[in-house]
Amino acid sequence: MEALLKDKVCVVTGGSKGIGRAIVARFAAQGAKVFYLSRSEADDAAGLAAGAAAAGGSVAWIACDVAKEAEVEAAIARVVAEGGVPAVVVNNAGVTRDGLVFRMKLEDWETVLATNLTSAFLVCRVAARHMIKARAGSIINLSSVVGITGNGGQTNYSASKAGIIGFTKSLAKEVASRGVRVNAIAPGLIDTSMTDQIGAEGRAKLMESIPLGRSGSPDEIAKAALFLASDLASYVTGEVLKVDGGMAM
Ligand code: NAP
Repeated sequence: MEALLKDKVCVVTGGSKGIGRAIVARFAAQGAKVFYLSRSEADDAAGLAAGAAAAGGSVAWIACDVAKEAEVEAAIARVVAEGGVPAVVVNNAGVTRDGLVFRMKLEDWETVLATNLTSAFLVCRVAARHMIKARAGSIINLSSVVGITGNGGQTNYSASKAGIIGFTKSLAKEVASRGVRVNAIAPGLIDTSMTDQIGAEGRAKLMESIPLGRSGSPDEIAKAALFLASDLASYVTGEVLKVDGGMAM
């Protein structure tokens, strides 16, 4: 089978670890020219680059805090200059600052909203301008099942992830006539550094709510992202794809 993303320029925010890193590797393995934007470089950057090259793809890191307007504008300008107009953009960078609402500092609220939601606006504002001119492209935003169901102790995080869903559907309507698709993925419990702090008791309770009876791997999200990024999803836009083992059924 022909590589699904041959020579396509792909931007992935938060590609240094976890789900983002898995998406970078999957896309590059399908021949993509991937640029990932994060504050730090992936630990195994050389391995990532070698794996990409073997598959006819490439991986380049651009240092960028996606919550900062000027850094995002500069990073996307660099992608366009060095690679060309992005065919795929994945807004994946995200953080948590959990706490009960009456104890939550404004800073923890603002950091989560800026990193998880405003970043998607900043990236799309500049990238989508190029994509609509090219009259093609796929934008994928990382939401979460808690953006659908809510979760006590995560008002800031779930508000950002619910916001991503509204943002995704609205942008999908704005750009559909120009050939650009916009979708969201809502992962359930995925094994990354974001979730490795969950204690044994909390994890056992979560497992009871997952019909498939296990957590997911970053690559299981990457496979869903590959579907939405590629022409396999050519008639899919404005969708929120849950990849959660049935957790939020
Ligand atoms: P992770 O392992 O903690 O990775 C987070 C990524 O985001 C890192 O690459 C980090 O890179 C980047 N990042 C954070 N703040 C950033 C900033 N200001 N600017 C640029 N990059 C930034 O988390 P993950 O579990 O892979 O999560 C990825 C996405 O999936 C997030 O949006 C998350 O909310 C969502 N999600 C995860 C789960 C789960 O169970 N893990 C479930 C639902 C949704 P640097 O630190 O190098 O900047």
